[in-house]
Amino acid sequence: MRGFRSALALARAAARTRAELQGTRGRRLSHCAAAPARPSFGIAFDIDGVILRGRSPIGGSPQAIRRLYSDDGTLKIPFLFLTNGGGVPEHKRALELSDLLGVNISPAQVVHGHSPYRDLVKRFEDDLIVAVGKGEPASVMAEYGFRKVLSIDDYSSHFKEIDPLAPFKKWKVGQPDCKDFMSEKMHPPYDVYQERVKGVFVVSDPVDWGRDLQVLCDILSTGGLPGNGKGDQPPLYFSADDLEYQAAFPSERLGMGAFRIALESIFNQVNDVPLKYTSYGKPNPFVFKNAANILEKIVMDMYPNSQPRNEVQDHQFSTIYMIGDNPKVDINGVLKAGPPWSSVLTRTGVFRGNDNDPKFPADLVVDTVDDAISCILEKECIR
Ligand SMILES: [Mg+2]
Repeated sequence: MRGFRSALALARAAARTRAELQGTRGRRLSHCAAAPARPSFGIAFDIDGVILRGRSPIGGSPQAIRRLYSDDGTLKIPFLFLTNGGGVPEHKRALELSDLLGVNISPAQVVHGHSPYRDLVKRFEDDLIVAVGKGEPASVMAEYGFRKVLSIDDYSSHFKEIDPLAPFKKWKVGQPDCKDFMSEKMHPPYDVYQERVKGVFVVSDPVDWGRDLQVLCDILSTGGLPGNGKGDQPPLYFSADDLEYQAAFPSERLGMGAFRIALESIFNQVNDVPLKYTSYGKPNPFVFKNAANILEKIVMDMYPNSQPRNEVQDHQFSTIYMIGDNPKVDINGVLKAGPPWSSVLTRTGVFRGNDNDPKFPADLVVDTVDDAISCILEKECIR
């Protein structure tokens, strides 16, 4: 009898909880009712031209980001940074952003242009690959699990005279005629003279365009073995395709998309078969789908006791706001991705117009990221 009573009490409690949950769901639909325990929206921030210009915070970004945390410093509103930039491992960028913005950013909240390269590890795990770009492209790839990776600086240094302009370059670090460098690098870690490069990954903006265009044409037109005859092109990946981006200089700078155009034009002039490549980064809708999945995981970490989801899908959020400065990249990406994505365009970077972008109109246009957060929190009834 006692067992029956306690089972009944449990069933009543469960029914009460269900009714409360249903009540909560019902209230969520009404405008500005009590804020739900588990936020039904998330936010993705572009970095360059929205949060930072160079390394300087802009648009009131530190205060805007702090509004997404509780007084005790715990995350209140799920958000992540969705940037086409990169060149350093995500955990390093998280530390840098935490320092600049004065809050605790976790590596899971940083999605770089190259973050999707993680999904290609199985295909290239034991193959020799070359990583291109500023920062630490080889470390980025090694952290993802690629075992045989060389930066283009390292790779080029093992091929004497591969860059005929090297003697004329003022900077000598990493160049074959640097004595210290050569003594260290006499023996390449892999047999680069026999082993073909099986994949090329442009991780971040290339530094020495002239040398990189030459060496990449060599690798890609010889089947991965510079100095040899023509061969099948190994796969080539770009982590983004931005033609321009907003850095510290007053007008936009040429981005990875510009480098891609240069490489493609030259390669197609000197080869019979056109260059094949895959580009990631915004506005590719895959990037937005991936970001939605990551945001959902962040929410599950914030609310470990909330209803577990069997499968993470796009529509776990009623709205995901993308705050960006570049209509062609950020807003176009949202237009391609569709619901639940919604776009907010700031005037602190590439876009400076009075109204909206005519080609890729945003759902909302504001001056700064702080204004964007004010509008979002008001719309979502968060005080
Ligand atoms: Mg930007």
